[in-house]
Amino acid sequence: MQSRVSAALVLGVCLGVLGLSLWLGLRTPDATPPLDRLNVVATIYPLADFVKHVGGEFVYVSNLIPAGVEPHDYEPTPRQVAQVLEADVLIYLGGGLDDWAGDLVDEAARMGNLSLSIEKHVPLTEHDPHIWLDPIAAEDIVTAIRDTLMAADPLHAEVYLHNAAVYLESLRALDSSFTSTLSHCQLNAIIVSHDAFSYLGRRYNFDIYPISGLSPEAEPSANDLVRLAQTARELGITTIFFETLVSPKLSATLAQEIAASTAVLNPLEGLSQAELQAGDNYLTVMDKNREALGSAMLCQ
Ligand SMILES: [Zn+2]
Repeated sequence: MQSRVSAALVLGVCLGVLGLSLWLGLRTPDATPPLDRLNVVATIYPLADFVKHVGGEFVYVSNLIPAGVEPHDYEPTPRQVAQVLEADVLIYLGGGLDDWAGDLVDEAARMGNLSLSIEKHVPLTEHDPHIWLDPIAAEDIVTAIRDTLMAADPLHAEVYLHNAAVYLESLRALDSSFTSTLSHCQLNAIIVSHDAFSYLGRRYNFDIYPISGLSPEAEPSANDLVRLAQTARELGITTIFFETLVSPKLSATLAQEIAASTAVLNPLEGLSQAELQAGDNYLTVMDKNREALGSAMLCQ
């Protein structure tokens, strides 16, 4: 309810700013997408990366949540609200992660723009938005994105169809390599920083023990940490995972407590500037996740 109120407020402020800018004859210099391409705004990194692969040269995609920013509880700036309303297509996840985007859908529709809510196409477990971490579900997300781009820009429908087919093939290959890496492991449980990996664990049959809740802000009590250390000892866990956009402090504390090592498992909620510059993307990061899981669970 609070996010609904604040989105409405932001929208009001934004329309005021936009009106003032137009009145002054101003344009934001760096936020003008090329007119000859479909202008797509995606809230979180994995969705933007999928759009980039399916859209190719005919789509200009912006990732609304900036590089290096953790998306839980993110609030858009007035300028970003304007960016959403100017886009031809808005793509957001839903499921509590970016509901503020959903609040803008009616307004976008009034302006003749399309919106795609991923949660309406790919069923989410209640309160858990991290669906993109399951490569098979990612196929469904890509398919929904493909259909939306084809509807928004029928002239290039065949290109989107082709690009999507190529990318879906890569996702199937990713799924196969996960299955083969994780098929013979001594352990079948991991400890992670926040509760982002349940879809992945269910897909490949391993258990997740999160230090924090579904959002990294949901921090554990001292008792929770003691219980988790106990569980880790019982299960023989020797690696505690942390992630790049959240403080590794709790993971490091737990690792020290049970004399385990730490390693990165990336929930892909956003890539850091360094990761983007190194050419990382959904497929490369998921492949690193696969390797990290394979060594943490002592797979052959
Ligand atoms: Zn998360």
